[in-house]
Amino acid sequence: MSVAAVLSPPEYESRLQRYLFERSEEGRAVRVGEKEVSERAEIVRRYSDLFTRDQLGALREAEDKATEGEDRERFYRLRKTCEAGLIAAALAEREDALENAVLAARVEFQDEQLPLRSAQARLAVLQGYGERDELGGLAADVSATFNDERLEVIRTGEELEAEISGIDEPVARADEEKGISLRELERALAGASEAAEGVYTRLRERWFERLLGPEREEVPSSFHVAYLRRLSPLESIYTRERAVPICMDTLARLGFDLEAEPNIKLDLDDRPQKSPRACVIPSDPPKIVHLITRAQGGLHDYQAFLHEAGHALHYAGCDPALPYTFRNISRDHALTEIYSYIVEAISRQPGWHARHFGLSDEEAATNAEATVFMEALLFRRYVAKLQFELDFWGRFAEDGGTDEGYADRLTGATGVRYRADGFLADMDAGFYSADYLRAWIRSAQLRSYLESEIDGEWWESPETGERLRALFAEGTRPSSEEIAGRIGFEPLDTAPLLAELGA
Ligand SMILES: [Zn+2]
Repeated sequence: MSVAAVLSPPEYESRLQRYLFERSEEGRAVRVGEKEVSERAEIVRRYSDLFTRDQLGALREAEDKATEGEDRERFYRLRKTCEAGLIAAALAEREDALENAVLAARVEFQDEQLPLRSAQARLAVLQGYGERDELGGLAADVSATFNDERLEVIRTGEELEAEISGIDEPVARADEEKGISLRELERALAGASEAAEGVYTRLRERWFERLLGPEREEVPSSFHVAYLRRLSPLESIYTRERAVPICMDTLARLGFDLEAEPNIKLDLDDRPQKSPRACVIPSDPPKIVHLITRAQGGLHDYQAFLHEAGHALHYAGCDPALPYTFRNISRDHALTEIYSYIVEAISRQPGWHARHFGLSDEEAATNAEATVFMEALLFRRYVAKLQFELDFWGRFAEDGGTDEGYADRLTGATGVRYRADGFLADMDAGFYSADYLRAWIRSAQLRSYLESEIDGEWWESPETGERLRALFAEGTRPSSEEIAGRIGFEPLDTAPLLAELGA
């Protein structure tokens, strides 16, 4: 047998760019309903040389030898991409089988056989309180039947990751990759969550009453969260038809003309096969960035559009002269989520509601408060998720992963009842919860910075656009914590976030 040829880091980077482009374009075509059959597996096979042990060894060697900080960081990210690809390939068959089993599962509800995912989606729009409880419970029962297999996949993945990365302890491994201490982050967040407790409880009383009605229980189940999130009782104000024009106008006030932006490929059509979830697919930043949405009605559409527009502008706005790695590969998602969060935050401004929806100042303030309540609920949910995940992984080597603490932590933080057996379906790989939470802290800092730097309202000033453009130009290179330094904050300063949550 001959030794397989390995690529130098620059060769690897350019082949990776082609691979990710093809894979992204294929994923996009399926997602928007242009293609019915995915040929993703064929693409993965064609580029399988990118994800081998030999290649990984060569990248690690190049990284160890690199003297310049930039090259070291670049080669590190290529090596981690190679590691992730190796693990994904090893798990692909099991994960696909689990995914297909979940897709095939049915929930029996009111004489209908609903696919599990459709049942979960319906919870957001089902009008009756009792119906949501019933359907939610049935769907959760079905979902929990996959817990053994989910845990097996997690255990296999964890074992492989420990071996391939050379770092045994899962929390230490995540710390190393994110370049932070997750436990320090948790301590800062726990403090913020506690400080916001009183104001959250008051908001919750008012909005549970308005959104869930008098028949609700003292502690309603988590099956109502998707419905709460759509703010369905306010739906008639935030119509489907106006979502795109109003969001476009909102961005134009910041100096971003999305329709004239050549790098962003907009797909806003309403096609039956198209997934309703808004997303951005950065196929080849900055030149090819897809922004895909399909409005359904309700304020959530506007928020999702603005959120994804923040990601799209970030990727499409990066300096084309950067190496590919710093245009598309990051250590985690904490950086790009700052930019989606800051654009989405416009939807929590009372002035925005007044300007676009013909509301009185009082009505606008009330509706904006509803969005702050939802934000506070989600923030507290994510802090509890991170705390549970730190516990889960901290004792994983001894107990192999259990639900201990999940229901107590999430229910205690949100005032919404979580079922213990939902713990695995609710867990994202790689401590994604921590990335969202860092973005929560940072986007609030960024907003506070913009408020103090800019004359007039930050959310409708072209100067905000200019300052964001300067940050976007840096691509995926900086860490979230480096951005804190640029805008004059300590990374764990949660004061601006507390102010946003009303505390
Ligand atoms: Zn996002």
